[in-house]
Amino acid sequence: MEKICVAVRVRPSANEESVNGFHWKVESNRISLHRSHGTPISGVSFAFDHVFDQECSNARVYELLTKDIIGAAVEGFNGTAFAYGQTSSGKTFTMNGSENDPGIIHRAVKDIFANIQKTSDREFLIRVSYMEIYNEDINDLFAVENQKLQIHESLERGVFVAGLREEIVNSADQVLNLIQLGEGLISDQNAFENGMHPVTSDFLVVIESKAKDKKSGESSGSDDAIRVSVLNLVDLAGSERIAKTGAGGVRLKEGKHINKSLMILGNVINKLSEGGKQRGHIPYRDSKLTRILQPALGGNAKTSIICTVAPEEIHVEETKGTLQFASRAK
Ligand code: ADP
Ligand code: MG
Repeated sequence: MEKICVAVRVRPSANEESVNGFHWKVESNRISLHRSHGTPISGVSFAFDHVFDQECSNARVYELLTKDIIGAAVEGFNGTAFAYGQTSSGKTFTMNGSENDPGIIHRAVKDIFANIQKTSDREFLIRVSYMEIYNEDINDLFAVENQKLQIHESLERGVFVAGLREEIVNSADQVLNLIQLGEGLISDQNAFENGMHPVTSDFLVVIESKAKDKKSGESSGSDDAIRVSVLNLVDLAGSERIAKTGAGGVRLKEGKHINKSLMILGNVINKLSEGGKQRGHIPYRDSKLTRILQPALGGNAKTSIICTVAPEEIHVEETKGTLQFASRAK
């Protein structure tokens, strides 16, 4: 199986007062906690495939972390790119970006169509869908009436979300317009005020391609004639723990769900990264998120995780938690 590529990204500071003088230091692919006068805190140092500091652009993150996954997807390999981290750490900035610096989803969509243009010996059919997982319900972000969709499994299609709208698309601009409409349907946009954002969104691209008939009259009936790959671009629910937000009632219910499905995702990724014989059972079936992602996780799928962290001292504990999650995924 392919190794999962794990990166950490530190967002710019919101300039909050540092009380004890702790700060995070990024040196090449390592991030570590230091005191203000420079002494490192022992044991709080982590290395990853990449560590991006606050100066890093989405363009660079895309180049180093996602571009290859997109290229492989057009060639027929499944792929997944996740953003994991506490609310306000920069997941959505990384996936969606800003006007000046579009995010990973925008760049991926452009690149898919650019790569297709270059692949002149094949014909392509591209389908996209967009869903959220909120309170363990799957809702369609392309069709507001499609709520609480069920996961089904068939020999023909494998695991799929029944009733999820799929749009056949022909251009990057068409896809970007659909995404913009879909974003407007994401639940609980104001949850940020409560300190947590319990919604996971998954933008799905199915890339099907067929060898063009050769003029020679030879049939193109090889195994390679038709290829289907699935790409998942995922902005995960906030990873913050319930205790800190002091959540109760409805919030508490959401908090528990978040933790459970993120925890199961962590277990699945951890098992996959162990590889080899000691890997054992992979608990894909334990959450909706991991069931949906199963075809694009493991096997010969290409996977990257970007773990976003906030640099302020008040977030030190959450940041450590995120770095520990990231370490388990390596
Ligand atoms: P999350 O989706 O993890 O809750 P956001 O992506 O919404 O967090 O980021 C919180 C705020 O920080 C937003 O205003 C966002 O524009 C800003 N931000 C996050 N990451 C960066 C970055 N790398 N560069 C500039 N601004 C950022
Ligand atoms: Mg967000």
